[in-house]
Order: sequence, then C-alpha cells, then structure tokens
Amino acid sequence: MSIGIQSCLIIGGGMSGLIAGNILQKQGKKVTIIDKGRGIGGRLATRRIHHADQITGVFDYGMQFFAVQDPLFQQWVDQWLLEGVITEWSNQLSDAQTPCYRGKNSNRSLGQYLAQDLDVHLQTRGITITRDDVGWIVETETGQSFERDSLIMTPPVPQSLSLLENSDIPLPSSIKSRLEGVSYHSCTTILALLEQISLIPEPGWLKPSDSPIWAISSNHKKGISPQGFAVTIHSTPEFSDANWNTEEAVIAEKLFNAASHWLGSTVIDYQVHRWRYSHPKTVYGEEFLALENPGLLILAGDAFFFVKLRPKIVI
Ligand SMILES: Cc1cc2nc3c(=O)[nH]c(=O)nc-3n(C[C@H](O)[C@H](O)[C@H](O)COP(=O)(O)OP(=O)(O)OC[C@H]3O[C@@H](n4cnc5c(N)ncnc54)[C@H](O)[C@@H]3O)c2cc1C
Repeated sequence: MSIGIQSCLIIGGGMSGLIAGNILQKQGKKVTIIDKGRGIGGRLATRRIHHADQITGVFDYGMQFFAVQDPLFQQWVDQWLLEGVITEWSNQLSDAQTPCYRGKNSNRSLGQYLAQDLDVHLQTRGITITRDDVGWIVETETGQSFERDSLIMTPPVPQSLSLLENSDIPLPSSIKSRLEGVSYHSCTTILALLEQISLIPEPGWLKPSDSPIWAISSNHKKGISPQGFAVTIHSTPEFSDANWNTEEAVIAEKLFNAASHWLGSTVIDYQVHRWRYSHPKTVYGEEFLALENPGLLILAGDAFFFVKLRPKIVI
C-alpha cells in the first residue's frame, strides 16, 4: 500500500499500528503513534510477577502465539526470525500443524522491536478527533495535540467507533452499521505463579474441551520464564461474560479448580486480567476501511485482518 500523504498519526501501538507505522515510515512519511497503554504492543502483552524468594514469573497474558496465512505477513515473519526477535514455538499447536511463532523473550518484545525506530507516545489516550484544512487533530487525555494529514485507527472497532462518535466525526450510515456489527469475545485471564513445574505437557500449551478454560500455557515450558513456573489461564468467552463482575478471588478459585489437573502445584501468587476485547467474534470483512473525505482516515486492526473468521481460530 502506498498512499499520497506526508504524515500520519496512528492511534494504537499493537501489532497492527506498529506494522503500519513501519511501512509508512519506510515510504518516507512522518509517522507518530499514540497508545493509551503503559507498555507497547497492545494485546502482545507480557507481565512479570516477582515473588519473595527471588522467583520471577514472566507471563505472556494476551496473544500466545501466531501462525502465518498471508504471504506478505510471511515476509515480516522471516525477517523477525532472521533478527532473532521471534522463534518457532511448535507446529503442533494448530490443527493445520503449521509453524506457530512467539516472541523470543516474550511477545511484548516483538512489540518493542517493531517500535524501536518509531515516534511512539505511551500512556497517551486520544480523546477527541477534529479535522481542519491541514489535517486530523487528535487531542489526548494528557493535554497534547497531534496534527497530521492522515489518521489510522487500530483499537478494537467499538473503541474506535465511540471515539469517532464522541468527536462528532460523521460516517456514511452503511459503513457505520457495518462497523457496529463487529464484535469481540471477552476473556478473563489468570497469571498464576506456581511452586513447582506444571503438568501441562510439552510444548506447554493446550486447549481443553468441555471446560471454562479456553487455553492454558506454561510460560516456563514455552521458554520465556526460566526463573518462575508461570502459567497463563485463559477462560472461555462464556465464562468471562458470566463472571465479568465477579470478584477476582472467586474467579481464581473457579479457574484453579478447573485447571487443577494441569497445575499439579500450589499457586504462590496470581493476578487476574479482564480483556473486554480479546479476539473478533464478527469481523468487518475487508482488510481495512479507508475514508477519504474530509481527509484520509483508515480503520484497521484484527477485526479487519481476520478478513473472514478462520474456520478454527488458533487460540
Ligand atoms: C487473551 C488473548 C489471547 C489471544 N491469543 C491469540 C493467539 O494465540 N493467537 C492469535 O493469533 N491471536 C490471539 N489473540 C488476538 C491477538 O492478540 C490480536 O488479534 C492482536 O494482538 C490485535 O492487534 P491489534 O494491533 O489489531 O490490536 P491491539 O493489540 O488491541 O492494539 C490496539 C491498541 O490501541 C490502543 N488504544 C485503544 N484506544 C486508544 C485510544 N483512545 N488512544 C490511544 N490508544 C488506544 C490500545 O491500548 C492497544 O494497544 C489473543 C488476544 C487475547 C486478548
């Protein structure tokens, strides 16, 4: 994609915004990325839990791994492999038995690598968007203002839509209703630090059936948590929706019970994270949405690059 613009503001420093930013910067555009998060990478999320006895658990607690379906994306992946930023985890994780990759040190490290040459502003939430003769102006919660001649929005679609609506940016009604049809599964995630190594079989990831657990991963067996037996438990969307307002201790008890067969150890510490938007349930159906009037505005992100819902999503 080569577009006739000089500068671009990207809202969202996840995989989508970072790849778009790198492409545009290579084309000579002035690129700025803002993200409301404290760390880069969006759902390429990694966190550490330090425990008293010099134990540190490293947890990938959003995306676990990714596979490649698009030849263009394969080129990026080949480069990341060459540079040692990612590694193949296994080819036994998806039904298609294709290689599944992970960040070498953690998934967030892939986000950090992609951001290294970009102008990125973290903890910078866009709260209003306006357009003047020169470009799009995004005001942030921190009182900053960015004006660029084009704008790319990569948050989950409901968040992009509400930002546009709150800013009174009109959208053609057919497009608006299509965007309103995009929805996401929620997911409740537990980061559990164990006393002993878990019983999750090699290579360290499994997807149980008939369980409130959608997937369970050993970050230790995955290779990113050498000094802590760190296990990530992702709930099913049904469990997450039904327990959205349930206390953390109760959620933990329910999911630890369901996971006991694979934990096989005392939990010495844990945290709970609730993902309102984990992965798309219904998608937009095109790779991105570009609107040219009053100026170039692009909506992108996983509800777009999952052009059709995969028959079996790799999660
Ligand atoms: C629990 C979980 C497990 C998953 N497992 C897998 C898996 O195994 N395999 C797989 O392929 N996919 C998986 N996914 C999905 C995958 O993580 C996403 O598809 C992908 O990371 C989406 O990237 P993105 O850049 O489109 O969106 P995001 O990573 O969500 O990036 C959007 C960014 O926009 C920022 N943002 C939002 N609003 C604003 C605002 N107003 N101002 C500034 N910034 C804003 C957010 O902070 C965020 O960083 C999983 C997701 C979750 C949550």
